[in-house]
Amino acid sequence: MSITDEVLAANKEYAAKFDIGGLAMPPARKLAVLACMDARINVEQLLGLKTGDAHIIRNAGGIATEDALRSLIISHHLLGTQEFIVINHTDCGMVTFTDNQLLDRLEEQTGFSAVSPNHFHAFVDLERNVRRQVSRIKHHPFVPKIPVRGFIYDVKTGKLGEVHEHRPHASHQNA
Ligand SMILES: [Zn+2]
Repeated sequence: MSITDEVLAANKEYAAKFDIGGLAMPPARKLAVLACMDARINVEQLLGLKTGDAHIIRNAGGIATEDALRSLIISHHLLGTQEFIVINHTDCGMVTFTDNQLLDRLEEQTGFSAVSPNHFHAFVDLERNVRRQVSRIKHHPFVPKIPVRGFIYDVKTGKLGEVHEHRPHASHQNA
């Protein structure tokens, strides 16, 4: 039995006990979360959210890609979310390679080069990565002035630590 068959069997059990068919489309807590896809992170559980409370947008690294921004913009403008949270985490696989290494490996393995994806968004500095995603979201022209905060989730303790916005040094502003 494949994993897909196993999870389909699990869904039969889930549907047999299903009792949340009456949920509204807009998230009840008016929150959208952008998080890494890491399998150790249960976004709803770690934030005390229930089904129907929030939009959860996930990708490798918790990156504010064109597509993640698309979802956040729809989330706010069409479905009424009023706060955004970005979650990266300790021990993230995205710091274990570089874009060029992965691209070289894929081209060697397959014998092909490809137009897309043109970035894998690997990164080195976790805090800087969080700040960068928060900034990309905050300063997008279609995102109004709503709270956008960034966090690092510790996969060993379950704790969330906030990454505060970097304030430019005066010397940089004057340069
Ligand atoms: Zn990750």
